[in-house]
Amino acid sequence: MPTYHYRCKSCGYDFTEQQSFEDDPITVCPQCGQAQVRKVFSAVSIEFKGHGFYRTDSSSSSSKSSD
Ligand SMILES: [Zn+2]
Repeated sequence: MPTYHYRCKSCGYDFTEQQSFEDDPITVCPQCGQAQVRKVFSAVSIEFKGHGFYRTDSSSSSSKSSD
């Protein structure tokens, strides 16, 4: 299913929605409720790629000051 990119012209809310080709485009903003949503045509795919995804694991340092 293709992912469409929308942006609200009223509040600037930016979101993506997975829709089929038969679905009507979203016009009402889920954020502010205004019918100011326009479809954004971006060349860049918004899909998350597997590469480059890493997490910084902040290991908890158990600092015991024993005397
Ligand atoms: Zn809005």
